[in-house]
Amino acid sequence: MAETLTFKTSMQFAYGEPRELAPRVVRLVANNPSPFTFKGTNTYLIGTENLALIDPGPDDAAHLDAILRTIGKRRLTHIVITHTHRDHTDGLAALVAATGARTAGFGRRAAMRGTKRTSPSGSEFVDKDFIPDIPLVDGQRLEGNGWALDAVHTPGHAPDHLCFALAGTHILFSGDHVMGWNTSVVAPPEGNMGAYIRSLELMGQRSDATYFPGHGGQVEDPQRLVKAFLLHRRMREHAILECIRDGKNTARAIVPIVYKGIDPKLLNAATLSVLAHVEHLMERGLVHCETPLSSDRALSAS
Ligand SMILES: [Zn+2]
Repeated sequence: MAETLTFKTSMQFAYGEPRELAPRVVRLVANNPSPFTFKGTNTYLIGTENLALIDPGPDDAAHLDAILRTIGKRRLTHIVITHTHRDHTDGLAALVAATGARTAGFGRRAAMRGTKRTSPSGSEFVDKDFIPDIPLVDGQRLEGNGWALDAVHTPGHAPDHLCFALAGTHILFSGDHVMGWNTSVVAPPEGNMGAYIRSLELMGQRSDATYFPGHGGQVEDPQRLVKAFLLHRRMREHAILECIRDGKNTARAIVPIVYKGIDPKLLNAATLSVLAHVEHLMERGLVHCETPLSSDRALSAS
């Protein structure tokens, strides 16, 4: 299968140093690099005097210091969460304590509660306890003094994922839904491939000019990237179907074929990604399997 994606893996930044990316938009990068977080989690500050912050990032004293230094004498009124994965929310409590800002996000709704989710890297990564002061739904506007953000519900990577359009600009804060450095991890049961693809299609219908993602540098011409991601997922789905038809009929057997030469550290994430595709194929009746689905379950294609 030909690789259809080219990634942007360069990024101009220094840990602890605010960088102005656009008028009223400043980025700080947290020092939590990994194969899943790239250089670290991006925290954005928006506004001029009364500020909003998108994603506090990890619980890290140096990052909190950098945020507070950047705010300076100004006032942080709102902390906005793209999704409740811990690399985005672990620093929330300390930031609320330091600033008294109100929190806003989709929140973990009743349907998502009560299940312990684990991350592709093996550690728990979901912050189940986040209950925002201001719960946001798709299309809702959050307005502060000198800025407004429009929420776009984009489930797939996480069920509670929101992107945020900065009103009066063509900027979209795309969280972990669309990033330039890599594809988004879609790992069941937390991640859902059908929802992710529908959320990508939604991005394709918008006319944003720049994405500021949760990890990595800004994305220009984002519609092109969204199209490439959709094509990439279609090709991967096709490759998985071919495997099943060829008798490589478990996720475990499929992974080394569709992810040739994969870094062993990412093997678990790749297996979950294949399972996410299989789930999506099963939803449409194209693949059959006895439930519960697992990496060793025999799959059949119709
Ligand atoms: Zn993330």
